[in-house]
Amino acid sequence: MNSTNNYLIVNNLSKSYYSLSGETKVLDNISFNINKDDFIGIIGPSGCGKSTILNILSNLDKDYRGNILKKENLKIGYMFQNPTLFPYLTVYENATLSLKVSKKLDIINKNYVLNLLKKYDLIEFKDKYPSELSGGMKQRLALIRTLASKPDILLLDEPFSALDPQTRSNVSNDVMNIIKKENKTMVLVTHDLNEAITLCNKIIVLSKRPSKIKNIYKINDSINYYDLIYKDI
Ligand code: ADP
Ligand code: MG
Repeated sequence: MNSTNNYLIVNNLSKSYYSLSGETKVLDNISFNINKDDFIGIIGPSGCGKSTILNILSNLDKDYRGNILKKENLKIGYMFQNPTLFPYLTVYENATLSLKVSKKLDIINKNYVLNLLKKYDLIEFKDKYPSELSGGMKQRLALIRTLASKPDILLLDEPFSALDPQTRSNVSNDVMNIIKKENKTMVLVTHDLNEAITLCNKIIVLSKRPSKIKNIYKINDSINYYDLIYKDI
């Protein structure tokens, strides 16, 4: 990859799941780029393959057709749709678990995580257990856990869908502020068009399965994107 701003290029990505009952075509020739500092929203109907795309980008799923070019040494962090915290581990132990498992929990990384907990108002809870946290705090902790390994790109799969509407807007603001402050590039999967327009600078609209890209919108403030994109979904 030539330019340092190019993080990832997805070229003609297609994917089917196979079972005894036959083939389910999920993705049909999906192509898009992710550049440094992009905040990309992916929207589309339930079951169209949004989570499948994130599984492929994160390398969890290697069974696809097409081409994915990644910048050398690009680190990708993935926050699943319903991130589970370990109930018998403390906030600090949850936040540092993946570093510990990959034997990277040195003093620098310990301090990095402690600093994130401090910056995002969880430091007083570092020795408490997840059951003692509010929904919003759990979500912040799940994000800090993903940030702990210092990824260049964050993949977030409907990160706010489990929260009630009131908490949702506070938490989504919190989470976005964290991501912006930490200078990350983001791909956000959501089925909420307003959320995508508010939070993202580029929106990829997928059709229903087998999903193709219907449109890619660059968001700037001059037009009413809601009405424009709503026609697509
Ligand atoms: P979305 O996240 O957009 O709701 P998914 O990517 O989870 O959609 O799933 C896309 C389609 O693929 C759905 O029809 C789903 O039932 C099917 N699917 C997802 N994972 C598997 C799997 N492991 N095996 C078979 N079918 C799957
Ligand atoms: Mg999904």
